[in-house]
Amino acid sequence: MLKNDMLEEWDRENFFHPSTHLAEFARGNAPQRVIQTGDGCHIETRDGTKLLDAFAGLYCVNVGYGRQEIAEAIADQARELAYYHAYVGHGTEASITLSKMILDRAPSNMSKVYFGLSGSDANETNIKLVWYYNNILGRPEKKKIISRWRGYHGSGLMSGSLTGLHLFHQKFDLPLNQVIHTEAPYYFRRDDLSMSEDDFVQHCASELEALIEREGADTIAAFIGEPVLGTGGIVPPPAGYWDAIQKVLDKHDILLIADEVVTGFGRTGSMFGSDHYGIKPDIMTIAKGLTSAYAPLSGSIISDKVWAVLEQGTDENGPIGHGWTYSAHPIGAAAGVANLKLLDTLDLVTNAGKTGAYLNKVMGEALADHPHVGEVRGEGMLCAVEFVKDRETREFFDASDKIGALLSGLLLDDGIIARAMPQGDILGFAPPFCLTEGEADEIAEKTAKAASKLFDWS
Ligand code: PLP
Repeated sequence: MLKNDMLEEWDRENFFHPSTHLAEFARGNAPQRVIQTGDGCHIETRDGTKLLDAFAGLYCVNVGYGRQEIAEAIADQARELAYYHAYVGHGTEASITLSKMILDRAPSNMSKVYFGLSGSDANETNIKLVWYYNNILGRPEKKKIISRWRGYHGSGLMSGSLTGLHLFHQKFDLPLNQVIHTEAPYYFRRDDLSMSEDDFVQHCASELEALIEREGADTIAAFIGEPVLGTGGIVPPPAGYWDAIQKVLDKHDILLIADEVVTGFGRTGSMFGSDHYGIKPDIMTIAKGLTSAYAPLSGSIISDKVWAVLEQGTDENGPIGHGWTYSAHPIGAAAGVANLKLLDTLDLVTNAGKTGAYLNKVMGEALADHPHVGEVRGEGMLCAVEFVKDRETREFFDASDKIGALLSGLLLDDGIIARAMPQGDILGFAPPFCLTEGEADEIAEKTAKAASKLFDWS
């Protein structure tokens, strides 16, 4: 086995890490961590440090670490057939079975699943299909996509444009001009503090309506949104938000893409965020929870309405010119089948709802009265604590204070992984669904301890 110091040297010399301060990392000033193994909600680094992973990797290891059933399914598939492509009608038992298992769980108007490898590429697929759809319907001008500020949809050219976070645009010449952003359903950060939640929902719907009118409904193809804003701050929508938005979209014949990369397969306590909030999407994006990240796999679930037009398109133009070498990769598909079975066998979606509610409760009890906590919020196994400079005036900290990063650093020193969300001083929690109440208590207690330490509060 390689010595740790050798690995660390190779790491700094050779490895281009995503979402990392490249120069500080190369200079040795940014931390590095080599992960060795994991079990349940815990991971262990190569130097033997055990950490409670309260963010499930990147909110993806939903069934928890070390699941032998999935490892065995991957190994069996690799031994039997590691790869064959899915072009021109090819499939494997695993990919065909998984497409059926997904549709059995998806809303009843869903028709087919296209498989990709990541949430980003699935959203690239979705936008291409929406453009194709409108070309087939003879509406070549109807192409713009509306996304929300603070939405996260990936970091490709189109998916990074859909993302509404500055970090993912700056110096990359994004967003592309086919993408326009509208207001996020972020009640806590509303400009007008006197607005009730209902007023705010109406305000979001009117902003959307005004944007559509300015641009022209005949130029807008689709609206994309996460049922719960994730990377933008873990923000559940105010009651009635999705209903109000869907009314506007229906009126203007604009397709709805529900990006369920985080919420899909149970994170809200329902199978999909769309079930949870009564969303009726035309296309759904899935990834992370599909395999619990045991292998890379994503999907675009296509509704009957869109599918009928895709069929018409191939009748008129021949085979659809879209595909990845690794679409429906057998190893990913085998991981997906084993993962969805495990979710059912262990009733983990129920636990995500139940223990997630417990986590949100104890986090609120531990932190809601803290003078620098503006809000504790969440849904299912998603929880966020937003820190503010002044609770009364709702003044936020300066980004350069790096309060979120300091708090996640303190938590890490105490054995807990929480994520400092990229925009705002927000600590995010999205543990595996197998979290116990005891582990939830530990996360809340240690978060309160970290906040007390940083702000000298007792
Ligand atoms: N969509 C959402 C809602 C996400 O949270 C993410 C990743 O966090 C993506 C898309 C992009 O997925 P990936 O990182 O697999 O490309």
